[in-house]
Amino acid sequence: MCCHSFIKNSKRYCSMKNSKLDKMRFYANATCIVMLSMLFASCSIFRRTTPSPYSPEASSLPKPPPKPTTNVTAPSSYPATQYYGNRWNNEYVRITSDPKPTGTTTLDLTEFSMPVCGKVLSEFGPRNGRMHEGIDLKLTHEQPVYCAFDGMVRMAKEHRSYGKMVTVRHDNGLETVYSHLNSIAVKINQRIKAGDRVGGGGKTGNATGEHLHLEIRFMGEPFNPRLVIDIENCRLNSNKLTINENSYKLYQKNLQAPAETQTATKNKTEIPNTYTVIKGDTLYSISRRYGTTVDELLKINNLKESAIINVGQVIKLK
Ligand SMILES: [Zn+2]
Repeated sequence: MCCHSFIKNSKRYCSMKNSKLDKMRFYANATCIVMLSMLFASCSIFRRTTPSPYSPEASSLPKPPPKPTTNVTAPSSYPATQYYGNRWNNEYVRITSDPKPTGTTTLDLTEFSMPVCGKVLSEFGPRNGRMHEGIDLKLTHEQPVYCAFDGMVRMAKEHRSYGKMVTVRHDNGLETVYSHLNSIAVKINQRIKAGDRVGGGGKTGNATGEHLHLEIRFMGEPFNPRLVIDIENCRLNSNKLTINENSYKLYQKNLQAPAETQTATKNKTEIPNTYTVIKGDTLYSISRRYGTTVDELLKINNLKESAIINVGQVIKLK
């Protein structure tokens, strides 16, 4: 408008005798041009120094902002890329085409927090003709469930059988799954620490009562959480975990032989003669701890299969 009126005015008034008025108009329009030029120049500088979030820069069409589904700035910020590379999804616990673990791997398990200290309701292993890929721990409605190790939330969703569930990939390479939650307290791609609350206990999904279904996996493969956690005493077996193909054989065949944890590698001579039952013990947990079987314990102690053990009861181990 301003420039247009300048040209128009120039034509119309260039021969006018009223030079004072003409000069005023000329200067007003000239000022207008200078201001427009400055505005244009500043816009160019701004464009150069502040790149558009959209690419390519030249696109003049307005685009909707990208959906903030992630706060991850680069794949390098995913945990444990030495094992998983850039593979990261928010939908599936395990993708069968992903590479499986090979050889022997030792993981550093420092900075641990027990997800829930509770009675074991169901062990890892075959159950009702299917594989139970975790361990079930009793809890109460909305009891806090804590993250086991530092890591990043990979999944936080409602699943048909897991119910409300959270999967965390940890910096140490393990993944943990917290299932049947009543509420979820974290978001996908959120960085969390050992001991952070991931949700509240419940019985969502395929669960008949309130409990936490806890899974521990390495590169997608589930194994018995007892390889990592001394469940009854709410602590780690060891600060290091060495896993190899035997750990997964335990999954495939449910071998009774204990795998390579510090407590489980005790040989027969280290096993005491007796064990006094503490809160949370089961014959199965005792058998695993001392490298024996439930059948053997029943036989040695002259117990029936339906026998219930009590706190303070002395169990013969050999
Ligand atoms: Zn379960």
